[in-house]
Amino acid sequence: MSIAIVGGGLAAATAAAELRERGYDDDVVIYSSEDHLPYERPPLSKDVLLGKKDIDSAIVHDEAWYTANRVRLERGVTVTSIDPAAHTLRAEPTGGGESTEHGYDRLLLATGATARRFDLADRVADPIYLRTVEDNRRLRSALRPGAKAVIVGGGWIGLEVASAARQKDAEVTVYERADLPLVAVLGPEVARLFADLHRAHGVDLRLGTAVDEAALAAADVVVVGIGAIPSTQLAEQAGLAVDRGVLVDEQLRTSDPDIFAVGDVANHQHPVLGRRVRVEHWDTAIEQAKVAAHNLIGGGEPYTHLPYFFTDQYDLGMEYFGSVGPEGYDRVDIEGDTDVANGGAFRAYWVKGGTVLAAMHANDWDASDVVRDSVGAKR
Ligand SMILES: Cc1cc2nc3c(=O)[nH]c(=O)nc-3n(C[C@H](O)[C@H](O)[C@H](O)COP(=O)(O)OP(=O)(O)OC[C@H]3O[C@@H](n4cnc5c(N)ncnc54)[C@H](O)[C@@H]3O)c2cc1C
Repeated sequence: MSIAIVGGGLAAATAAAELRERGYDDDVVIYSSEDHLPYERPPLSKDVLLGKKDIDSAIVHDEAWYTANRVRLERGVTVTSIDPAAHTLRAEPTGGGESTEHGYDRLLLATGATARRFDLADRVADPIYLRTVEDNRRLRSALRPGAKAVIVGGGWIGLEVASAARQKDAEVTVYERADLPLVAVLGPEVARLFADLHRAHGVDLRLGTAVDEAALAAADVVVVGIGAIPSTQLAEQAGLAVDRGVLVDEQLRTSDPDIFAVGDVANHQHPVLGRRVRVEHWDTAIEQAKVAAHNLIGGGEPYTHLPYFFTDQYDLGMEYFGSVGPEGYDRVDIEGDTDVANGGAFRAYWVKGGTVLAAMHANDWDASDVVRDSVGAKR
């Protein structure tokens, strides 16, 4: 038996470990287009960007782990096609070169996502799309005291970069087309608190405003954080069902019975939420990889874990559990001190029809379990 894992991120490395954890003893090969050992991306916009931690701290397993666990890690190798009927794939060096064919019995797609491009910024500036170690290095050296940083997009990555840039004494302007940052996820009640936090730290937050050419041209560094696009090209080429991500069933199986997909690339039929979700979070990459590893070797486990994510901005740390969904919420209950710029700690609960759909805390780490367990409960 041979299992091929395509993609060299957190989901890929976690799946390989879980296969060994569950006693699977045959071949495991990871094909990773990056040259690095698989690493976690969240520190790229937080501690590693701030220079508080080294990039090595973000590595999932060290080199010796792969040898000791007999996991063949093919670094700098891109899979260019999959033939599901023949159970083969073709791979070649990422920069180009001779392609080779390899067989597999079961395959896991963990190809992740890439940053959405912004044409105007590409034309006018040489923007940084923060996704890789190389992007992080470039941004770290650009964030100098007094540097004029323009950030396009007030999402998680844009705001985390704004926080790091202010802590490095750069002048920061954030352009966000919506009326509040993060409003699509948090709603206006809590999104407003993030806007206040950034303004209190000296960010020039331009809301309801599209960035123009002059602003981009005048910046020392432009960072674009306007979302990610799932890397579905291989799945499409292989004839798998794809619709805003690779479609997987409750057990994370694609439309081909021998191919599973997890992490940022997977559009999952979530049995608890009762709808499809594609979740771009660290925790989902880990938890889906564990369940998929089980199912790759014959398990029939549905993936039921609810979405979870965290962010760190300035001195604020927050965790968010659950998912509001397209139908929205009736009300949000906020408890505690919302003056987060001055160390306030609060909890928020998004409620619909008397049930908590999602809940978060900011700076209230002791409440983490209570907040998590409130999701799905009556309120
Ligand atoms: C800057 C940044 C900050 C983040 N912060 C947070 C956070 O605070 N909290 C949180 O919950 N989440 C955060 N995330 C999201 C989180 O990092 C992702 O959800 C997670 O990385 C997804 O893991 P993955 O393995 O599915 O995909 P990825 O990490 O994207 O890895 C996919 C890998 O597959 C490789 N690949 C793609 N195609 C091929 C191919 N054909 N052949 C071989 N290899 C291929 C890619 O090069 C890449 O190395 C952040 C992401 C970024 C970029």
